[in-house]
Amino acid sequence: MMAQPIAVAIHGGAGNMTPENLPSEKAKQIEAYLRDVVEEAHRLLSEGRLALEVVEIAVRRLEDAGWFDAGIGSYLNERGFIEMDASIMDGKTRRTGAVAAVRGVRNPITLARLVMERTSHVFIVGEGADSLARIWALPPLRNEVPTISPGVVTQGTVGAVALDKYGNLAAATSTGGIAGKKVSRVGDSPIIGAGTYAENGVIALSATGYGEYFIRSVLTYDIAARIRYAKMTPAAAIQSAFKERLESIGGTGGVIAVSPQGEVFFHFNTSGMYRAGKDSAGRLTVGIYK
Ligand code: ASP
Repeated sequence: MMAQPIAVAIHGGAGNMTPENLPSEKAKQIEAYLRDVVEEAHRLLSEGRLALEVVEIAVRRLEDAGWFDAGIGSYLNERGFIEMDASIMDGKTRRTGAVAAVRGVRNPITLARLVMERTSHVFIVGEGADSLARIWALPPLRNEVPTISPGVVTQGTVGAVALDKYGNLAAATSTGGIAGKKVSRVGDSPIIGAGTYAENGVIALSATGYGEYFIRSVLTYDIAARIRYAKMTPAAAIQSAFKERLESIGGTGGVIAVSPQGEVFFHFNTSGMYRAGKDSAGRLTVGIYK
């Protein structure tokens, strides 16, 4: 019998990084970290862990890295403090959990998952979300030294998508948003169908880029709809949605995706996107630039 396919992909944000403006030592460190996160995620999937668990674990590690725009590495808003957004989606049940403009929790992705599992709601914001994090005793966000290397410029939103042995897809995205954003501004990352979407038998997606454009394009749902209704391949759906929905209004950024067959996709219209993936054939991809 053929082994059931498993696959995973992660991103650390799309942006204007080039070999000229990112020192090669830092690029190597980031690539090594991305490789390590994706290898661990793939191993967990091979051991039978659920896609939902694995995307949360992968995103937590990216939040804890300290040099992506998520968790302890988050950009500051216009008043100089951190507000974070995150969401997670289970493609099997289409259950989701999301939080936005949270200030005091170290791992917003875990808070999003608990919103999904412990409340009858899908989206809780601001002080109410922060107070749930305290009630559930989640580790607080503190001024701490990032786990990889202090002093590294933060980069981008983080996300993960996965296919588990049982055919389940899941997606998770976490961010500190845009640097210098208005207080209480919410981007696409916690909005299901904009920054995050997963549906078994269709696709799992996590986006990164200028969030306002992804919300206006309802980008991840638009890609899923092209696959579901227009019967497009994932590659054609991603490319056409980027062109017709996002780029037509001036949007920039990228997406990662995993298909029900265990293919992995990366697509971006910026000069770079921190990314890594391992598909059902065990092929590893790690990259930063185009
Ligand atoms: N999409 C995120 C936001 O607009 C930012 C990013 O991906 O870098 O909040």
